[in-house]
Amino acid sequence: MTLALTGYGVARGIAIGRTHLAERNEIEIGEYRIKNRDVDGEILRYRNAVDAAGEQLTELANRIDQKVAIPAADIIQTHILMLRDSQIRKNTEDHIRSELCNAEWALQSQLEQVLNEFRNMDDDYIRTRAEDVTQVVRLIQSKLNVETTSKPFENIPDRLADTLVIAVELTPGELAILHERGVAGIVTEHGGPHSHTAILASSLGIPAVLGVRRAQSLLKEGETLILDGGLGVVYSDPDDSIQDHYRQVQRDTRRYRESLEAVRDQPALCIDDEHINLQANAERSEELQQAIASGATGIGLYRTEFLYLRGAPPGEEAQLEEYTAAIRILNGIPLTIRTLDLGADKSTDSLDFAQLSRAANPAMGLRAVRLCLRDTDLFKTQLRAILRASAAGPVRCLVPMLTSVQEILMVRSLLEESMEELDERGQQYDAGMQLGGMIEVPAAALAIEDLGRHLDFISVGSNDLLQYALAADRGDEQVAHLYDLQHPGVVRLLKHIFRKAHELGIPVSVCGEVAGDRRYTRLLLALGLRDFSMHPAELLEVKQVVRDTNAHIAQEALRLWLNNPIEFGSQSLLQVLDESQITR
Ligand code: PEP
Ligand code: MG
Repeated sequence: MTLALTGYGVARGIAIGRTHLAERNEIEIGEYRIKNRDVDGEILRYRNAVDAAGEQLTELANRIDQKVAIPAADIIQTHILMLRDSQIRKNTEDHIRSELCNAEWALQSQLEQVLNEFRNMDDDYIRTRAEDVTQVVRLIQSKLNVETTSKPFENIPDRLADTLVIAVELTPGELAILHERGVAGIVTEHGGPHSHTAILASSLGIPAVLGVRRAQSLLKEGETLILDGGLGVVYSDPDDSIQDHYRQVQRDTRRYRESLEAVRDQPALCIDDEHINLQANAERSEELQQAIASGATGIGLYRTEFLYLRGAPPGEEAQLEEYTAAIRILNGIPLTIRTLDLGADKSTDSLDFAQLSRAANPAMGLRAVRLCLRDTDLFKTQLRAILRASAAGPVRCLVPMLTSVQEILMVRSLLEESMEELDERGQQYDAGMQLGGMIEVPAAALAIEDLGRHLDFISVGSNDLLQYALAADRGDEQVAHLYDLQHPGVVRLLKHIFRKAHELGIPVSVCGEVAGDRRYTRLLLALGLRDFSMHPAELLEVKQVVRDTNAHIAQEALRLWLNNPIEFGSQSLLQVLDESQITR
């Protein structure tokens, strides 16, 4: 009988094959006392285990094919850095010394302490880091327990074609090994959608469903399994109709992937030769690498909230380090750094804004640039860091949630003050650094002629603009049906922004989710958009639609629809635009 299990579908794709249950490799973390005279020996045993873990990770990072798995090597480097984290090392050694306990136990106590700190922070990024620390600690512990865990995956065959591995959990390093062996898909009991294992599975193109509870006990060794990495479902012992359906989906997906690969090195040109600029949104170094690999011409949106969600607000030097690291990775590709956009759906306890937490309607409250203009010290610290980063490579500065011209003038004046402070310190920056504004407030969109005159470029934050224009909370699934780019009011609003920006001669892009959703690419082209910024994973899909579209024909179809939508009966605007391309 078919059994369907669900989890997080973290890497799209269909895998069909036989299961292989990866042995648990459980490590016994017992506590035992050691004698005073054995302390040095125990610390040495601990240091040797850390070195052995480091060697294993370095060997793995060197082995990984850089072309296919840049993020894997990057994630493993992060683990190597964590391994060398002197605080955990020092605390563990102190614990062995003061408690006279074995190294495994001392390390476990450190892990629990770190996880406790992380547990109090409600943020996906932090949760991912918690998983990383756990994985690194487990690796050291396995090195301390050489008899029980001599080699990872000893029980796993060398060739895994048509094999789906079912594991309790997998580290990014282990996943890289399975990839080398040609694994068809993976299922794990633990691991969330934002974990590094999830990111890696997605970038390696391994269909994966994580967080499937009790997968190891519910699935049997060697049985047929179908995994749908998009839906997050696995079917064991699937009947013929399910198998036929998925084999067809698999064939279609393969064909689609091949056609996507074919556009990787092609220019982003419409059929009528309109050139489209395709940029990427990014915040983690994996995404920056992915952006380069996908051929993005720039980073159109580099969110910086993650720096502030880790704990205390970061200082100027810490920020500068993050930004220059990104610039180094990008190697000449322009980086648009967005200033702090905290508040509403992105809140943190680490900033002491009583008003922020008290607001009855935080989405309309003290958020983003409003918050920055209230705490100008916090804002100027970031402005100085961005300015200093601009000396290291091409950098633009983008300000979120602008409502009025006055706000832009205040930002400009703080930027000037920041430059003067850097002059006094004798520090370098690009005096011509461009200042852009995000258009997310409907009134700002309608007053774009006034705001635009004070900006060097414009980026439309469609995620917020739609929620405010349609009065539909972007995160509330109960009103998701109202959150629609095809609403005539939204279509007119966007058309107005793009037209006025063109008239003023200011570059305009869209960096909200719709820019990376290929269903909307034609509509945005028809509206006159020529610059998109999206998650790097979406770039080739969007490029393919761009190359299949005659922008002027789409523009004309949109004009007719706007003149008289009734004439098109039950056809949606997207259908009208798709049809305009077929009948051209
Ligand atoms: C947007 O609102 O479209 C946007 C890109 O900003 P964020 O999603 O970070 O609010
Ligand atoms: Mg926004």
